[in-house]
Amino acid sequence: MHDFEYRQGKLHCGEVPLEAIAREVGTPFYCYSLPTLHRHIQAFEEPLSGVDHQTCFAMKANSSLAILTYMARHGLGADVVSGGELYRALKSGVPGEKIVYSGVGKTTGEIEMAIAAGIMMFNIESEQELEVINECAGTLEKKAPISIRVNPDVDPMTHPYISTGMRENKFGIDVEASLAQYLKARDMENIEIVGIDCHIGSQLTDLSPFIDAVQRLKMLINRLKEHGIELKYLDLGGGLGITYSDEEPPHPRDYVRAVLDAVGPLGLKVIFEPGRVIVGNAGILVTSVLYRKQTGTKTFIVVDAGMSDLIRPSLYGAYHDIRPLEDKPEAREKVDVVGPICESGDFLAKNRDLPMLGRGDMIAVMSAGAYGFTMASNYNSRPKPPEVLVDGTRYYVVLKRQSYEDLVLGETVPKAILK
Ligand SMILES: *Cc1c(COP(=O)(O)O)cnc(C)c1O
Repeated sequence: MHDFEYRQGKLHCGEVPLEAIAREVGTPFYCYSLPTLHRHIQAFEEPLSGVDHQTCFAMKANSSLAILTYMARHGLGADVVSGGELYRALKSGVPGEKIVYSGVGKTTGEIEMAIAAGIMMFNIESEQELEVINECAGTLEKKAPISIRVNPDVDPMTHPYISTGMRENKFGIDVEASLAQYLKARDMENIEIVGIDCHIGSQLTDLSPFIDAVQRLKMLINRLKEHGIELKYLDLGGGLGITYSDEEPPHPRDYVRAVLDAVGPLGLKVIFEPGRVIVGNAGILVTSVLYRKQTGTKTFIVVDAGMSDLIRPSLYGAYHDIRPLEDKPEAREKVDVVGPICESGDFLAKNRDLPMLGRGDMIAVMSAGAYGFTMASNYNSRPKPPEVLVDGTRYYVVLKRQSYEDLVLGETVPKAILK
């Protein structure tokens, strides 16, 4: 897969044997391929050449400064959902005018920070948020650029936890209610209406929900025109899926073409917010086998990475391919790959047919570049793993492993409780 291949029986990233990185940084660690990242950016941007557009990478998928800085250098903007992500985006050199701000729970502090940064637009998720942003902009004597995130009520046919564009989800404003909100926004002193937005879900493997969403947005855009509201931006969100096991998602080229076809000649700048499709298959998590454990009916392979490092299997029952760093053609067995965390839900793979693995062997958990490290936690007081970026023969530790001192940073014990 991509830049992660076996050479002389050893799994490499580019020209670098993963084993060599493990020797330097220990396990577990995240490893990203820069050439794969580059290829994914190109695959998305190439069909957009000549189209008035801005791709705003959804930072919640991967917010590494190194990766973001690389993206910024290649013209990408950022879709942020918190002040922390905004801070990272700016620090990575993403210009404010290439930043869109999404999310249902923006605080006034975050809103003021984004207005000061001169972002492209806020994607509004509720009536009250619109009012608060108007107030914040008033305080700063600025106009806040906004688009309304419309909930088009289409079923993205993905996991319910990552479906966002159905009526029952917390995201966006109902397509029927949106017109009234736009009319309200028009009369607000410190609001400038600049766009319309939708994001219907993640890991979509079919084009039709995207097309349905575009159709519904277009109807609304026409109604806005009738009311004299002209937009600059059409933000189509992210959500394009990737191959974890045997999914066959559309190629980004086909996705972009189909979506642009559906949009037609509207004269709006098109904004995309891809996350997973850019970074998902550009990263892996490498972990070592600690123990083999046999129970009455099962064999467990206990590894040194768990749900605190990669929570997708526990959270969504997500599938990640498992590959030994050393290609072993010998006998295979059915195992559960589990982590060290004290939770039964702490697993990386279940009922997997894998080569016999023993203490000290290392495995790669594939397709971990999106929603991997960004979802890592310190649960069980486990330091977060390092991140390594590989470019051909070279590799760079772009985040070092947390230390135990890092774990207690900022903590104090009040003297009063020692009496
Ligand atoms: C999560 C998210 C994205 C990115 O989704 P992917 O499936 O990773 O492409 C884009 N826009 C918004 C608003 C999101 O919440």
